[in-house]
Amino acid sequence: MQVTKHLHAVRIPFQIPLSPEKALDRFVYAFICMAETITLIDSGVAGADFIIFDAIREHGRDPAEIAMLILSHSHPDHLGAARAVKNATGCRICAHANERLWIEDTQQQFQDRPVPGFQMLVGGPVPVDRVLRDGETVELGQDLSCTVIHTPGHSAGSISLLLAGDKTLFTGDALPLPGDLPIYENIVDCVQSIRKLQDIDAVQTLLSSWEPPVVGQKKIQVRMAAAIAYLEKIHGAVLAAATGKKLDMMELCRQVVAALGLPPAAANPLVARSFASSLAAGADHSLFAV
Ligand SMILES: [Zn+2]
Repeated sequence: MQVTKHLHAVRIPFQIPLSPEKALDRFVYAFICMAETITLIDSGVAGADFIIFDAIREHGRDPAEIAMLILSHSHPDHLGAARAVKNATGCRICAHANERLWIEDTQQQFQDRPVPGFQMLVGGPVPVDRVLRDGETVELGQDLSCTVIHTPGHSAGSISLLLAGDKTLFTGDALPLPGDLPIYENIVDCVQSIRKLQDIDAVQTLLSSWEPPVVGQKKIQVRMAAAIAYLEKIHGAVLAAATGKKLDMMELCRQVVAALGLPPAAANPLVARSFASSLAAGADHSLFAV
């Protein structure tokens, strides 16, 4: 699906196995930037290279033209096909320094963050050829570039990309989707990163990994405010569940998941880790004061 002059969105469905009988249906968006050369923004899960390459061919271009793959962060649904893309095209892999270890050593990532089905979702490690820093410009074509915005919180090295020429902001997983699984490492950083994104002017198209493109300045503002409101709701629910009690994290996770109206299966160690960051931030934090 073409979303701006240069950018195409590719929706990649996948499953996270919860048990031998049960799997969670998810999807993620990867983006193709077509200029003189082709840049991929994220690669989806293992096997998504076929979907991405088909999308490129449908537009009369050749996957061999992929010169660069920018990874918003190292999680399986963004990194999964990176090794296959690199092997097929020889493209340069770009990511923030804080994601480098988990991109280059996927077994380490699995040890540190054991996502169910990890080995199926990730096609293996890949070397980072270029480390991206906050504020840096990346050339995508002759008259096309993007600015790297470090937006930690979901993960320590999550980045967003501003394509000012296309009035487009790609935010990866930086904007939690109200009602979806709360997955982040640090709620304080999450909120500060969203505030940083809210301060960017003149964005007409918002590209997030978890939803179709959001078009129009007003809708984008509403979407970002909803992300902060969801985090505030979660933070309040965690602190309320933790008041005066000594709960283990999984028990607290189950209570907060129920209070938020999420399905019971949402109570898992990754979500518990998100909630733990609220306990670390504490009640007195002026986190949500505008
Ligand atoms: Zn992620």
